[in-house]
Order: sequence, then C-alpha cells, then structure tokens
Amino acid sequence: MRKVSILIPCYNEEENIPSLYEAVKQLMDSHTDYAWEVLMVNDGSKDRTMQLIRQLREDDQRICYVDLSRNFGKEAALLAGFDHVTGDCMVIVDADQQDPLDIIPTMLQYWEEGYDDIYAKRKSRGKESWLRKHLSLQFYSLLQKMSNIDIIPNVGDFRLLDRKCIDELCRMRETERYTKGLYCWIGFKKKEIIIDRASRKHGKSGWGYGKLFGLAINGITSFSTVPLRISTCIGLVISIYAFCHLAYFLIKTMIFGDDVQGFPTLVILILFLGGVQLLSLGIIGEYIGRIYNESKHRPVYIVQEYAGCGKSMSNPDQTTTAN
Ligand code: UDP
Ligand code: MG
Repeated sequence: MRKVSILIPCYNEEENIPSLYEAVKQLMDSHTDYAWEVLMVNDGSKDRTMQLIRQLREDDQRICYVDLSRNFGKEAALLAGFDHVTGDCMVIVDADQQDPLDIIPTMLQYWEEGYDDIYAKRKSRGKESWLRKHLSLQFYSLLQKMSNIDIIPNVGDFRLLDRKCIDELCRMRETERYTKGLYCWIGFKKKEIIIDRASRKHGKSGWGYGKLFGLAINGITSFSTVPLRISTCIGLVISIYAFCHLAYFLIKTMIFGDDVQGFPTLVILILFLGGVQLLSLGIIGEYIGRIYNESKHRPVYIVQEYAGCGKSMSNPDQTTTAN
C-alpha cells in the first residue's frame, strides 16, 4: 500500500487545528486504499497549538509532529517537513484551511497517472486587499523577467510532490529560502489544477507586508543576478554621459573661458550620482549578506521534539549529500 503524507506548517493556529483535523480525518477515512501520515510542523507557536497537536497524536497515531525550538518562518518549517515526511508522496496544506482539501483525490489520481508535481493554481486569491493582490502580481512578473526559470504566478505551496521531488528538495539547504522557486527549479513532470482559494478561517495571516517584502527580495536574489547587471548598466550609462559632459565643458571653457555657472546642475549631479552609488552598494550588499549567511552553514531549523515513524533529522547533514 502506498503512503501519502500531509505536511502542515503551523504557527499560532490553535483556532484552526480542530476543524482542520476533522477535514483531514474525513479525507483519510474515505481513502483507505492509501496509508496516511499527517505531519504537523509546529513553528514555535506561542499559543496552544502544540498542546492540541500532542492531544491529536494521542488519539490518532496517523498524526505525527515536529516541534521546532522557535519560530523559524514558514520556509524553514517546510524544509523540516520535507526532512521528516515518510510517505511515497506528500501534499502540503496550510493550517488555516485556505486550501480546498477536496481536490486532493484528484491530485492523487494524477499522481497515479505518473505526474510528480501536481500544483494548485489559484483562480481567485480569497479575501485579500487590492494592494496585496496587485503587489503580488507585479512581483511575479518581475521575477519571471529576471530569472531564467519559469516561476508560475498565483501558485502557492498547496501541491502534491512525489518522493523523488521531496528527496531533491531536501538536498537544497540554503538558509535564505524561496521554496516556491525551488519547486519550479527542480523540474519533473508537472500538472496544474485550477482552484478557488478560500479566505483564512480564523486568526490573521503571519505574513505582514514587511515579511512579504523580505520574501520577495529572497525570491529575486535566490534566482537571479539581474539586479547586479542592472546596476552595472546604470553605472555604464552614467559614465558615458559624464564623459560626454566633461568633453563638452572642457571645450566650452577653453573657447569661452570660465564664467562659474551651473551650480544647481552640480548639486543635482552630485546627489543623483550619490543616490545611484548607494543603490548599487545596497544591491551588492544584499548579495554579500546572503553569501555571509550561507557561509556560516547553520542548520535551517532546530528540532525540539519529534513524534512519528521516521527518524528525527535535526542535523541537516544527515539528509544531504550535496553540502
Ligand atoms: N506559518 C508558519 N510559520 C510562520 C508563518 C506561517 O509555519 O512564521 C504557517 C501558517 O501556520 C500556515 C501557513 O504557514 O499554516 C501559511 O501562513 P499564512 O496563512 O499566514 O500565509 P498566507 O496564507 O497569508 O500566505
Ligand atoms: Mg493563509
């Protein structure tokens, strides 16, 4: 019998866990032709999430959990999940029930047909502000233009991944993670399912604009060096312009003498060049910061407690051969 794992990252989700469990239980009980495992990754929740998960495990041994030592962020929680799931395939589901579980049987059907990565594409994004929707679309189109891999817009983490995809994702131990890009980067046979995304059941999204901006910068810097190229090009254009200007003023001064004019132009030029230089430095700094973070080789997450049928992998080096 093939085993299906459901991976659920949880951060302060005490209100959602009871109804989430009911929904997942119904799914598992109606598909007894598979063995099931539900792996909940508690990402340092400050509410009763962990107690609820422990209680669920006492009643139902299909529930497994990984308790992280603090809040490492969803991307790290996902990696902890990839390391600990034991199924032949895995479905990633958000704890807030924004993802419609009733399409999982369709995902499983496609998996049986031989697809490796069956992802849900959102037709609508649920109740989100206009600004958030707009910024998100702009980000995807920017990322698409800058990187040389196809990153599909409006696709989240809700997807079924075959074991071979999970194994490849486990080999990618970067600290600054952008998992949505990694799914596309690894390739394999993909299949799209269009869904309507519901709004969050309880609680509020853990992703404020600040965190989303950080994720967007991570997405761009993880998959593209185009920003560096852009700053080189801007530098080049300004240098050529400055050289032409220099020649013009030199000749003008030699012919007509120096009448000390153009002070405002001078100020504007200094400010403009200063701005461009700082921006370029900032862009270079973003990349250097990432090199620095990666060079420390810290584990992406730390496991405090694990209960399940696999072995705990708090030391990432156990799982990777690529490092
Ligand atoms: N999450 C997490 N760690 C965090 C933030 C979120 O594990 O630091 C989990 C959260 O519990 C949920 C999923 O990631 O299951 C998606 O989070 P959220 O609903 O806040 O994101 P959104 O749906 O707004 O993208
Ligand atoms: Mg959500």
